[in-house]
Amino acid sequence: MRTNTGKLKVLIVGAGIGGIATAARLARHGCQVTVLEKNEIAGGRVGQLKLDGYTFDTGATLFMMPEVYAETFAALGERMEDHLDLRRIDPTYHLYFPDNSQLQLTSDMVAMQEQVETFQPGSFERILRYLSEGSRIYDLSLDDLVGRDFRNLSDFINPRMLLLFSRLRALTRHTDYARRFFKDPRLLMAFTFQDMYMGLSPYASPATYSLLQYAELVEGVWYPMGGMYRISERLTSIAEKLGVQFMYDAHAQRILVEGERATGVELQDGRLLKADTVVANADLGYVYRRLLPDRAASARLDRREYGCSTIMFYWGLDRQYPELGPHNLFLNGDYRQSFDAIFKKKGMPENPNFYIHAPARIDPSMAPAGHDTWYVAVPVGHVDEFDNEKEGETNKFWHSMQHKARAYILQRLGELGFPEVESHIREELSFVPQWWQNRYNLTRGSTHGLSHKLTQMAYLRPHNRHSRYHNLYFVGASTHPGTGVPTVLISARLAAGRILDEHE
Ligand SMILES: Cc1cc2nc3c(=O)[nH]c(=O)nc-3n(C[C@H](O)[C@H](O)[C@H](O)COP(=O)(O)OP(=O)(O)OC[C@H]3O[C@@H](n4cnc5c(N)ncnc54)[C@H](O)[C@@H]3O)c2cc1C
Repeated sequence: MRTNTGKLKVLIVGAGIGGIATAARLARHGCQVTVLEKNEIAGGRVGQLKLDGYTFDTGATLFMMPEVYAETFAALGERMEDHLDLRRIDPTYHLYFPDNSQLQLTSDMVAMQEQVETFQPGSFERILRYLSEGSRIYDLSLDDLVGRDFRNLSDFINPRMLLLFSRLRALTRHTDYARRFFKDPRLLMAFTFQDMYMGLSPYASPATYSLLQYAELVEGVWYPMGGMYRISERLTSIAEKLGVQFMYDAHAQRILVEGERATGVELQDGRLLKADTVVANADLGYVYRRLLPDRAASARLDRREYGCSTIMFYWGLDRQYPELGPHNLFLNGDYRQSFDAIFKKKGMPENPNFYIHAPARIDPSMAPAGHDTWYVAVPVGHVDEFDNEKEGETNKFWHSMQHKARAYILQRLGELGFPEVESHIREELSFVPQWWQNRYNLTRGSTHGLSHKLTQMAYLRPHNRHSRYHNLYFVGASTHPGTGVPTVLISARLAAGRILDEHE
C-alpha cells in the first residue's frame, strides 16, 4: 500500500458506482476523500425507488461478469460473498416474439436445444459455435481492450491493436455477423438484442458485442438479494468505513480551475471546497458543458454520438403473474425498423419493444406478500437537446409517447394472455427521457451515455484525465471503457490507479 499519497485531498463529483468505487479505492490507499452528490442517496443509475411496500431498482437490473465485482471488493480488502447474496438467474430471459412464439434463453443446453431446433433445424450446433466464438472475444476484450488504460496514441495505433480489432470482429456489423449463424429472424433477435445494454443498435454495432450473449448464457446473469441497489449500499458503507465522507444534496456548480490545475469545487449554495485532485463522476458531456470553462471542448463532446434513452414504468401490482420470469423481453413489430425509430429518428417505434423486470419471484422482499413489482422499460431515442433548453415542446412530445407506450404495453400483454394488468396496478411511477437528464444530469437523457460505436471506443473514447488540468480525472459510463456497472467498476480501477501512479 502506498503511503506518500496519505495527504492527498480528493473531491469527487457524483456518487454513482464510478464515484463510490473510486473514492473507496483511493481512501484505502490513504487519500482523504469527499464525495459530493446532488441527490439524497448514493448509487446514481444503480438507485432505488420505494412505493408503499413495493421496491424497485431504478436503472440497472442485470448483474453480469461477477468476477469484476469480486475484484472491486477484494481491492477494498473485502469479500463479495460477505456483502452480496447472489442468486443465479436461469432462464436468463423469457423472450416473446412478434408472432407470439416464445423462447427461454437458458444455460440448460438440453432445454435450449429442444426449443431452438423447432425454430431452425441445426441451429443448436450454430449457437454453440456462436457462444464459443463469443467466449474468445470476451476474454480478449477484457484483457486487451476494456481492462487497459489507453493513455497515449501509441498504446492504440500499433500493429498489435490492428490485429486485436480484427480478432474482435470490430469491423463487422453485429447483425451481419449473426446472420452467418441464424436464418430464423427470432434467433437473430435473440442473439443480438443485448447490444441495447450498450445503448446501441445491433445494425450499427460491431460484432464484438457478441461477447454479451456468451457473458449472459455461460458466465451467467445473477441477482443480488435486495436488488442491484444493494451494490451501491454495500460499496458506500465500505467506502465510509475506509474514511470517505459523503455529502448529499451537494450540487456542484463549477469545477474551480487556475492555470493548468483544478483547485476545487463550488457548490450551488455558494460553498467553495478546495482539493489537490478532483474526480468528476457526473456524466462527462454535462461536466464539460456545465462545470468547466472550455466551450470548444464541450462543443466537440456534444457533437459525439449518444446512446438511447428509456420511458420507464414502475408498477406495484396486487397479484402475481407466475408465468413471467425475472427478466422478460417483448420484441414487437419489425426488428430493424424498431432500431431505426430509436437511433435514426430519435423517437419511439410504432409497436415498441419493452422489457419487464419482475424480481419478486426470486426476492419476496421486493413486494408485499402475493403482490408483484414490475419495472417496465421501453427503449426510445434520446432527447435531442441539452439541459431541457426547449422544455415545453419536448415534454409534450415525450408525454404523448409515454401515454402511447403505456396503452401499447397493456394491449400487448393482453394479447399474450396476461389478463387485466391495468386493473391490478396499485402503485405507479413513470418517467420520460428528461427524467434521466434532470435526476442524474445525463447528457441528452441517454441512459447509457456516449455510444460505444467503433470510433468511440478505447483510445477514441474520452480519457480518464483532462488534457489540460492534469489533476482533474474522470470516471464513469461516458469515459473509457464505458457503460454497464462492471465496466464502470473497471473505469474506477483505471482512474484510481492512474491517480495513485501520478502521485507517487
Ligand atoms: C435504465 C437503465 C438500465 C440499465 N441496465 C443495466 C444493467 O442491467 N446492468 C448493468 O450493468 N448496467 C446497466 N445500466 C448502466 C449502468 O447503470 C450505468 O452504466 C452505471 O450505473 C453508470 O454509473 P456512473 O458512475 O458512470 O454514473 P451515474 O450513475 O450517472 O452517477 C453519477 C452521479 O453523479 C451525480 N451528479 C451529477 N451531476 C452532479 C453535480 N453537479 N453535483 C453532484 N452530483 C452530481 C448524479 O446524481 C449521479 O449520482 C443501466 C442504466 C440505465 C439507466
